Amino acid sequence: MAIIKDLGELYLAQNYKRFPVAFVRGKGSRLWDEEGREYLDFCAGIAVCTLGHAPEPVVSAIKEQAEKLLHVSNLYWTEPQARLAEILVENSFGERVFFCNSGAEAVEAALKLARRWSYLNHGPGKTQMVALENSFHGRTYGALSATGQPVYWEGFEPLVPDFVHVPPNDREALREAVNESTCAVILEPVLGEGGVIPLSREFLLEARSLCDRYQALLIFDEIQTGIGRTGHLFAYEHYGIVPDIMCLAKGLAGGLPLGAILAKEKVMSALTPGSHASTFGGNPVACAAAVAVMKIVLSEGFLEEVRLKGQALRKRLSALAEEFPDKVSGVRGLGLLLGLEVRIPAGDVVQALFERRVLATAPKTEVIRFSPPLTVAYREIDAVYEILREILKS
Ligand SMILES: *Cc1c(COP(=O)(O)O)cnc(C)c1O
Repeated sequence: MAIIKDLGELYLAQNYKRFPVAFVRGKGSRLWDEEGREYLDFCAGIAVCTLGHAPEPVVSAIKEQAEKLLHVSNLYWTEPQARLAEILVENSFGERVFFCNSGAEAVEAALKLARRWSYLNHGPGKTQMVALENSFHGRTYGALSATGQPVYWEGFEPLVPDFVHVPPNDREALREAVNESTCAVILEPVLGEGGVIPLSREFLLEARSLCDRYQALLIFDEIQTGIGRTGHLFAYEHYGIVPDIMCLAKGLAGGLPLGAILAKEKVMSALTPGSHASTFGGNPVACAAAVAVMKIVLSEGFLEEVRLKGQALRKRLSALAEEFPDKVSGVRGLGLLLGLEVRIPAGDVVQALFERRVLATAPKTEVIRFSPPLTVAYREIDAVYEILREILKS
């Protein structure tokens, strides 16, 4: 650890506050550090390691593809990219897919597609973007401008013009914000970095109907909620409300960098040759990994099992709220994206968990987020519950 940490501290940009550990290996929900100490991973790379660490079918798919072809330009076709697009379209509202490499890039692509669709269909000037306060969409300029958390803007302004932010679940504020000049409304069905805050069905219905009325596009950022995380393949299925554009990344390739946007043909057709592109987007190795991930997530009974595990974790967390009402106020979230609402600093609890070799995250000071691999075992859920109980007792 000492050497890796020392090297990192010497040479890396200091833009992360890191825990003092370097991981060298993982399997399932477990990680090992240099000294061979074992950790239980309920962070999963922030909802990235869909099937846990080193899942055999994904590792094999990566190896096989790496031996055949690492990269060609998007001037040519590759099989993994075409196959993955087919799987995504056959299992969603989407009809066409654009691939990129990360969440922020997916959001950029969605925002650019919305502006261009609006420009081609309604002429210039219909450019306003409505996003939510406390949202998180990424760190590039468009994504950052959509992100409704001014702390992330500090020192980076001016941002991309024409973004407005309204409070989540405030239908009245949304009605006031959306008008003829609105190009798109962008939101996360469950605000992840904002503190695991699910949007209400009423609010999403309002967003859908306002977008229809004003011919604006509804963008769901499902970068954190997609690929089975909430117990359905996509969170929009929970609500029965369909967006016009959906952003994916994090869990899509189970640990390799890959992002995507999905849309109906009539929307995606606004991207004509040369209008948008990505050198690495849809890389064959990343897409082969994603095909392997999708096959497992879509296999018989898998998502049902995620829902059951989500219920098991929720039940355990709710029991903590009952046992420690002075420290824990509740549980929120969907599926295996759950937040424990605490009255004590969440960072202290996450630190105490770390000392007991459990990884979790505190997106806000009042909430601890659990986003374990979707393959987490019930006994691992029980183990984390017991450890949390010990921490809250002391
Ligand atoms: C993580 C995240 C992003 C940004 O993804 P990056 O890959 O870090 O650029 C965007 N939106 C949501 C909802 C996210 O959770």
